[in-house]
Amino acid sequence: MTNKYVYFVANWKMFGKLRTLDSLDKVIKFVKNYKVNKFKLIYLPPTTLLHPLIKKIKSSPIEAGGQNCHQGQNFGANTGQINSTMLKDVGAKYVILGHSEIRQLGEDEKLINLKIKSAIKSRLKVIFCIGETLKQKNKKLTRRVLNHQINKGLSNIPNKKNVIIAYEPVWAIGSGLIPKYSELSKTITYIKQRIKGAKVLYGGSVNSRNIKNLKKINNLDGFLIGGASQTSKNLIDIIKKTFN
Ligand code: PEP
Repeated sequence: MTNKYVYFVANWKMFGKLRTLDSLDKVIKFVKNYKVNKFKLIYLPPTTLLHPLIKKIKSSPIEAGGQNCHQGQNFGANTGQINSTMLKDVGAKYVILGHSEIRQLGEDEKLINLKIKSAIKSRLKVIFCIGETLKQKNKKLTRRVLNHQINKGLSNIPNKKNVIIAYEPVWAIGSGLIPKYSELSKTITYIKQRIKGAKVLYGGSVNSRNIKNLKKINNLDGFLIGGASQTSKNLIDIIKKTFN
């Protein structure tokens, strides 16, 4: 990896209790002392942990974000929802949108597009997930799917500087499978050609064993890490092995 900053985005999904935050002590200590390389570490905890986590990381370079937001910026009668204004209010800097686990619940490209616009208006950085299913991959539709997701998701968003793309093949999430090096490298290049200047992360079963190969992809800007980010030891290992 040849880029200035390497992003490590820790997606905790629906895991974690208040006491899970104790495990951050180790990571905070590690990050403060690990000055060799430039990287950004961003936690995406469940909403119940967002504010206490932000308080905990306050004096460290670690940042945090939400796992979703409503498409509207104003308060409203939307039980069970939170919006980008609320995320910003508690100190979030990012929000992840378009994750396949939310798309599977019926979220479509139009809704994702509205959410991205709302997040940008609230001055959040957006981690926009795109990726093909196994069926689409087998039918050699990967590029067509990515193109569609990019066109619709980023429609009428002229300035994309606050959008980070996370390429997450759906079949690689939580499965232990990762794309072949050559395929992944080509896909990352394709996404970068489609969105000039975009930062592109890879997500899907990243762990401390496969990171040695994944980091060889030159134009990759970092990793979105689910399961392996829930243990400080694994996360620290991934960061160390990226740079060693
Ligand atoms: C994710 O859900 O964004 C993810 C990358 O999960 P995992 O690392 O567990 O495959």
